[in-house]
Amino acid sequence: MVTTLDEKLESAYQEVLRRNPGEIEFHQAVREVLETLGPVLAKYPEFAEHKIIQRVCEPERQIIFRVPWQDDQGRVQINRGFRVEFNSALGPYKGGLRFHPSVYLGIIKFLGFEQIFKNALTGLPIGGGKGGSDFDPKGKSDSEIMRFCQSFMTELYRHLGEYTDVPAGDIGVGGRELGYLFGQYKRITNRYESGVLTGKGLSWGGSRVRTEATGYGTIFFADEMLKARGDRLEGKTCVVSGSGNVAIYAIEKATALGAKVIACSDSNGVIVDHDGLDLALIKQIKEVERRRISVYAQEKPSATYLENGNIWTIPCQIALPCATQNELNGKDAEMLVKNGCIAVAEGANMPTTPEGVRIFQDAGLAYGPAKAANAGGVATSALEMQQNASRDSWSFEYTEQRLHQIMIDIHRDCHETAAEFGAPGNYVVGANITGFVKVARSMLA
Ligand code: GLU
Repeated sequence: MVTTLDEKLESAYQEVLRRNPGEIEFHQAVREVLETLGPVLAKYPEFAEHKIIQRVCEPERQIIFRVPWQDDQGRVQINRGFRVEFNSALGPYKGGLRFHPSVYLGIIKFLGFEQIFKNALTGLPIGGGKGGSDFDPKGKSDSEIMRFCQSFMTELYRHLGEYTDVPAGDIGVGGRELGYLFGQYKRITNRYESGVLTGKGLSWGGSRVRTEATGYGTIFFADEMLKARGDRLEGKTCVVSGSGNVAIYAIEKATALGAKVIACSDSNGVIVDHDGLDLALIKQIKEVERRRISVYAQEKPSATYLENGNIWTIPCQIALPCATQNELNGKDAEMLVKNGCIAVAEGANMPTTPEGVRIFQDAGLAYGPAKAANAGGVATSALEMQQNASRDSWSFEYTEQRLHQIMIDIHRDCHETAAEFGAPGNYVVGANITGFVKVARSMLA
């Protein structure tokens, strides 16, 4: 089923299709936002008059570059690097770097486009951007990762700066990679410019809670959605897809708030543990040993491993997609609804297909889209930038309290905006309109 767009929005969408052939994820992300903007154009005719929609859909700058590096056998390898500097109306471009073989321009553009509105929702002064490479870190040695990161930064550094463009991590880019990237930036520029990257280690300008922030934020958002319905997270059964940084800290915070997380996954399979997942073991397997999640079942008799299993077939009350885009389709959504799921909060970016979103909304579930539900990561990056600018370092408690308040505020803004625009309880409408109006007003000014 395809929703029709009003005339101005349809022509903007057609222009996006024409200008960006084959970039299906980007088309999907744009369409999802445009579908909610009809009432905004009616309320603010000046946005259409000044072509704000067309302008916001066209990145301010797109950089594509060659990344040559040498593997451990001494052979030359070539990858492609990207940085899409999408929108700087609210602040320097801000958004992560993704290293994954599926990366091409369309993926970076969809992520960069989402990032504009997500960053606006945080209420902090950050524009939207995203970057990455089709480099596959799987199976690479530490030295290969280092040489790749150094080569990547040797080209990218000229486009960055604390007032210009501030990358962070995403899939395939964590503390280790950011260390190599920051070291190379510092060496080339001869500047200890802490604010040029976020997600840094604590001893070299990083912020407490940044590692935990995306996962924690998603859980805070889920809890707010439940509270708005007179319910709470405590006592609920949750399923979290993925087992990377976002998933791990979503599991940690959900458990701390009294929920029980019974399943997680990686690209090979699913772990189910009805006793509740043993987070220390997951951290050991994923963060320390960097192994597959199947190892969990070898260590824990209470767990089962489903090779190539579909995590959304596991009955739960709260579903938390924390793996990757389009990982939850219409069939999965139907299954979750049938099995009694009452809330979905997205830790990953655009993990639910448009059909899946419609099924959740028609069933009246509390559905928290990525832009709002996973904004805690980038929000805490902005807090890291604040600490870097003032050469300060905040305590864990204070930083977490700031993150928590930001997620409460994002939820409240989305909830109120959705009601104001005639779609009470619809967080897609709430998030898109709140984020878009902030950016559009600034562009117009
Ligand atoms: N990659 C994260 C996101 O999708 C964080 C970006 C950042 O901290 O700049 O929002």
